[in-house]
Amino acid sequence: MKCDLCGGKVIEKKVSYILFYEGHWVIVENVPASVCQQCGERLFAPKVVEELQNTIWSKQSPVKKIETPVFDLAY
Ligand SMILES: [Zn+2]
Repeated sequence: MKCDLCGGKVIEKKVSYILFYEGHWVIVENVPASVCQQCGERLFAPKVVEELQNTIWSKQSPVKKIETPVFDLAY
């Protein structure tokens, strides 16, 4: 499989998926994705995206909570 963007080699990997949802950042770990080794582009299978959304929207208890340092680059 090749990357749509750069044509680089794509490998199957478990990644952390981060998104902003209802006012806070949510991280889903161990998400299977196809990751380009050249540009880092990540592709998720439609089934995986669906599962991700179900996991987050179902509001099940997260396995853990972490503190996230936030930086600001406003001038
Ligand atoms: Zn690429």
